[in-house]
Amino acid sequence: MKNTILVLVIIQLFSCQDTHNQLELTQGTHISNITIITSEDGNYSPYTGHLVLEKDKIVYADKNEPNISGKFERIDGTGKFVIPGLIDNHVHITEVQGMLPHHMEKYPELTEQFYEQMPRSYLYYGFTTLINLGGISEEQITSFNAEPVKPDLFHTGRSGASVANGYPMNFAPEQFRFEGTPNFVYLDSEADNIPDKFEPSNHTPKAVVSRIKNSGAIAIKSYYESGFRGMPKLPVPTKSIMNDLLREAHSNGLVLTVHGNSLEAHSFLADVGVDVIAHGLWNWEEYKDVPKDSLPPEVRKVLDMEIQKQIGYTPTLTVIAGEEALADDKFLSTPELNKIAPKALLEWYRTAEGQWFARDLFGDYSAEEVHSIYGNIQAHAKLVLNYLSSNGGLILFGTDTPSAPTYGNQPGHNGYWELKLMNEAGVPLNQILASATINNAKAFKLDSELGSIKVGKKANLILMAKNPLKEIEAYNTIEKIVLGGQVLIRENLAVK
Ligand SMILES: [Zn+2]
Repeated sequence: MKNTILVLVIIQLFSCQDTHNQLELTQGTHISNITIITSEDGNYSPYTGHLVLEKDKIVYADKNEPNISGKFERIDGTGKFVIPGLIDNHVHITEVQGMLPHHMEKYPELTEQFYEQMPRSYLYYGFTTLINLGGISEEQITSFNAEPVKPDLFHTGRSGASVANGYPMNFAPEQFRFEGTPNFVYLDSEADNIPDKFEPSNHTPKAVVSRIKNSGAIAIKSYYESGFRGMPKLPVPTKSIMNDLLREAHSNGLVLTVHGNSLEAHSFLADVGVDVIAHGLWNWEEYKDVPKDSLPPEVRKVLDMEIQKQIGYTPTLTVIAGEEALADDKFLSTPELNKIAPKALLEWYRTAEGQWFARDLFGDYSAEEVHSIYGNIQAHAKLVLNYLSSNGGLILFGTDTPSAPTYGNQPGHNGYWELKLMNEAGVPLNQILASATINNAKAFKLDSELGSIKVGKKANLILMAKNPLKEIEAYNTIEKIVLGGQVLIRENLAVK
């Protein structure tokens, strides 16, 4: 009996080595003895082991040391940690932080320096995948992808599916807004305010989704926003439009993600059952003045529906923090900004011209008044996030960088800030990591390639000195970024 078992064990060992452990590499990397932190479902069981990459793919991930031959580089991972590359599901790479188009025209050198550094800044903080969640042109995609190193970029087409004259096309002057939003959805109630040359049949949810799909998008971005900061009441989508957008998105294999941050918007979107809501629920409307630590039953009811339907919830806490930063005279002195924002641009932000948005936004308010108003909104946003996190909500990582022309939302740095704010809200570290990796990958149908460390997936990895399941600051101890198999040293990505 004993002998039989021994023979079986030997056969197993040999067959294992033959089929799994012998790797012939041509352009490989072996990361040895590293703590591997990955998950397919949000539960983590870190282990010390080995990773082997060949070209842009993961070909081996296991506790046992593999037998490798051929051409490869070796990285000793002793004492280090590795996680999948981070995914930010809500950015706008089309903007220069803190600038309007006329500033960009006036300062072409600042604009150029910004665009050269921006992809590197996202990578510096471990973001190897970005989803541009707003309008983007072919030229903008091409120019981003022409940078020597850059995160993988996914998008939602030439424009979002905004309803006619609704948010955000209301920002553009009337004579340009329809050309600028080629994927607007026709609204009968706005018929008198839509130029005749736009055929309603070209602006049905079906026509719009089909156009967005054909542009190579992975998702449809729509909006439910009735206005803020003194805007007139804006038109919003009807239930039937939103249902049609959802059905058309699904029949085209796309995801529907919708802007909304008010109780009214979340209630509407939860009822429809969209895939993802692109912001947290922080505008509590008539409940805005309730104590900071109490969740009104009306808000909880909407959250329960989002949990029950497993609608992706994107906290975007830095939308609030990044505006509030304009009232914080120490923000621009944050030492970390020197790593990711060109020096000349940081200097411009300090000028009277660079302070334009701070003046527009806060006018005569004192810093204390601003912090009190924003502190209240942020407390509500964190309370909601905590409730979702404690009750099985589907939390997705997204920053909305930049959410407005604020210099407070800097590429990469804003992602690290968002991670810290989620931690302050009480979201456990395993949920935070899952939100920025496997949850985002699944929600945006990218999980066959991204979101975890698994044989066959793309080799997008982050090597760090500290354990992100133990402390949030680990995300600022990144040492190397592996981007499609290419190993980048973090410090080499910093501003030169
Ligand atoms: Zn946005």
